[in-house]
Amino acid sequence: MASDSTEKRDLHTLTRGELMELLSELGQPKFRAKQVEEWVWEKNARSFDEMTNVPKSLREELAKRVTLGGVEEVARQVSLDGSRKYLLRYPDGVAVECVGMPGGNRLSVCASTQAGCAMGCAFCATGAAGLTRSLTESEIYEQVMHVRDDFNARVTSVVLMGQGEPFMNYDATLAALRRLNSPEGAGIGARHLTVSTCGVIPQIMRFANEPEQFTLAVSLHSAVQRTRNALMPGVRKYSLINLYNAMGEYVNKTGRRPTYEYALIGGVNDTDNELQALCDFCEGTLAHVNLIQLNEVDGSKFRPSTDLRAQDFVRRLASVGVEATVRNSRGSDIDAACGQLKQRALRGR
Ligand code: SAH
Ligand code: SF4
Repeated sequence: MASDSTEKRDLHTLTRGELMELLSELGQPKFRAKQVEEWVWEKNARSFDEMTNVPKSLREELAKRVTLGGVEEVARQVSLDGSRKYLLRYPDGVAVECVGMPGGNRLSVCASTQAGCAMGCAFCATGAAGLTRSLTESEIYEQVMHVRDDFNARVTSVVLMGQGEPFMNYDATLAALRRLNSPEGAGIGARHLTVSTCGVIPQIMRFANEPEQFTLAVSLHSAVQRTRNALMPGVRKYSLINLYNAMGEYVNKTGRRPTYEYALIGGVNDTDNELQALCDFCEGTLAHVNLIQLNEVDGSKFRPSTDLRAQDFVRRLASVGVEATVRNSRGSDIDAACGQLKQRALRGR
């Protein structure tokens, strides 16, 4: 383990094996690894000094050899509904947004898996900016812990619906979910951890084979191939028929009910023809449709549909046995709603 400060690694990036090795180099007993890990992951310590059950001399040695970085909050906005949106920056200067949404004794977090996104969906502010880079396991995890500590409350659910496409960053996303789920991490039940994908089929199949009961949401937005191609060019190569079949396999394999996200865009995917196609796509399958009025994005020509039209969708879907709800967008007054998390240039920093 190098002690040169330019080569110092961060504690968050060490595997358990590497941490044990470091501690044994420092002549420490094995149980120290567990103590240190508890501080890093469960307690989200921001400095070595917080590690009060670790001898001071060891804390000093650790500080010489590794860093204990973390996210830095650069800005926040508080919504009238109590949601808080944070701009969090990592040590290399890359920043992402995440949102904490309280309600009763619940606290939901919407976190990002990438800075930006390469999929280019036409209605999405993140897509418009392109991809900066994928986040690591701990960078995804730390967003949730930042929100937990800020609200000083247990996080009851996490949705990976911030910036980025989780299935274009599969390994880090899965590792972060596992740590969020673990009793030695955030201890959040797997069913309360949701991944949202624009429909990257090979990774949906991979996800179906994971042992945990994580929840899956798929952004559908249209069951008409031509419309979906125009709205979601990044997943053009995964046709709707293949998506349909993959979701059938997912349900067979897991027995779990996936959610389809459908942002209603006036005159684009809310016509009778589109509604019929959506009913055909979902009828007879295990599915929940989450309808959401499009959040308007600066410079975009798309507009939300009407509330009456959203109710038509709910009724028609119900008439073919498909459960659907219209989801309220939280935090829309602070641009924290889905699709509005935009990376900001951090001028002067
Ligand atoms: N990349 C993943 C997850 C992040 S986007 C995905 O696409 O599923 C989270 C959700 O917000 C997706 O369902 C996405 O389609 C939706 N979304 C993006 N822009 C939106 C907008 N302007 N209005 C409403 N929902 C939007
Ligand atoms: Fe990326 Fe999801 Fe936005 Fe599409 S909707 S551009 S996949 S973040």
